[in-house]
Amino acid sequence: MIHGWLRTRRLAILVGALTGFVACAPLADFVERSGNKIADPPTPTSAIAQGVHDRMLVADLHADTLLWRRGLVYSNPDSQVDLARIVKGNLGLQVFTMATRVPAEGRCIHERNFDPAPLLALINGWPAPTWSSANARAVYQAEALRQAVKRSNDTPTLASPRGGEQQVHLTFIESLDDLGSWLRRRYRSETPDPHSIGVLLGAEGAHAFDDPDGPEFERLCQLGLRMVAPTHRFDNDYAGSSEGCIRGTLTEKGIRLINMAVKRRMIVDLAHASHPSYEAAIGLLGRARHPAVVSHSGLQGYLDRIDVKGGHRANSDDELIWLAQTGGVFGIGFWPAAVGVPSVDNVVGAILYAVEVLTRAQGAAPVKGGSHAITRASEHIALGSDWDGAVEVAIDPARLAAITERLLVHLEPDDVANVMGLNACRVIAQSLGAGDYTAARKFCGVAALRTAAQPEQAARPLKRPDSGE
Ligand SMILES: [Zn+2]
Ligand SMILES: [Zn+2]
Repeated sequence: MIHGWLRTRRLAILVGALTGFVACAPLADFVERSGNKIADPPTPTSAIAQGVHDRMLVADLHADTLLWRRGLVYSNPDSQVDLARIVKGNLGLQVFTMATRVPAEGRCIHERNFDPAPLLALINGWPAPTWSSANARAVYQAEALRQAVKRSNDTPTLASPRGGEQQVHLTFIESLDDLGSWLRRRYRSETPDPHSIGVLLGAEGAHAFDDPDGPEFERLCQLGLRMVAPTHRFDNDYAGSSEGCIRGTLTEKGIRLINMAVKRRMIVDLAHASHPSYEAAIGLLGRARHPAVVSHSGLQGYLDRIDVKGGHRANSDDELIWLAQTGGVFGIGFWPAAVGVPSVDNVVGAILYAVEVLTRAQGAAPVKGGSHAITRASEHIALGSDWDGAVEVAIDPARLAAITERLLVHLEPDDVANVMGLNACRVIAQSLGAGDYTAARKFCGVAALRTAAQPEQAARPLKRPDSGE
């Protein structure tokens, strides 16, 4: 997302002034630490909820970890995401997104506004081409993720800085075969193996490459790019952004991008899209029978309900329904613009709000070109934390069981399993070419089976405090 610290003109100027002309690890780490805070204090999770959580497929659709100096490493106290916390929280599948341009806020966000991304690349110690090129910054982040995967495969036993050893095996998901091998590896025994982690690469804004038919896009695809969002926080050549100055619709280039993404079996992410762009993209995707994804966002209806003045990073009920009617999945964010005060309660509140909206739309004939009549509301909601997006978030990956625990109070275990990760797996499988909605759901079914085979205590929802049970 890239909010908070980096979004203010003041910070941009401060970073610029402090930077000088050399790489500066302590400064880079200070900026990372200051931007990426965790709000909710740790609370213990019940053994029952933890047991249920540890058997689920857990996935998250958006983390900007690659933007920072250390990237994806075993342990990084300055970040919100590292491998140790991914393992601890039973997070199995994570999309890592590449933010490449982050113009500062004014009355609206224009690409000509001061952009601290090149300065961040400089203090991170990234190579010279990244100081002036968004594409070079994307290539650098893509290669960094590939290296993290390679390291984990070359040396699966990593020494933990806090003592002991930790085995982590990363699978770079570039194809349906990769997704299948990761699923088989993680679910080869009765209990899912938390050390086997699937990673997928996304681009936050198509300004990271010159043209969907050009060599820059081709190279990023070769480096593993499989999820693409037309815009980030400003209008670009492809589409209007929800925070841009014009907020227009998809351009001719944007339409070609969506069509190319469908052709190449990529995941299309409509997070940050302006309303007209969103609507146009949903139409194209619906007609192509390709599911749409919002990797990280909030819902305006939920923000209204808790009396939080919304910005421009929350979607309407209609937008959520249109997305679900393409067979798509909406990732609920963990940060203030998405859910108000960043807390587990508000993340869960927004998820339950989405369930309400989609339940009302169940069985309705699809509109906007969609072909999927919603049959089960929980099948279209996922987690989209925005970890390491320079925002304060509710929790880090180590504490994801807290979300499972609170969802189990309100929803059936199967619905909780859908939200916590099965839906994300399904939409990725379908985008990568597993076939239709049902076939894609079946593809991820090995994980669903394990969730169904939970201990007895998970067979019914936990106590509902509001029902007096
Ligand atoms: Zn974002
Ligand atoms: Zn982001």
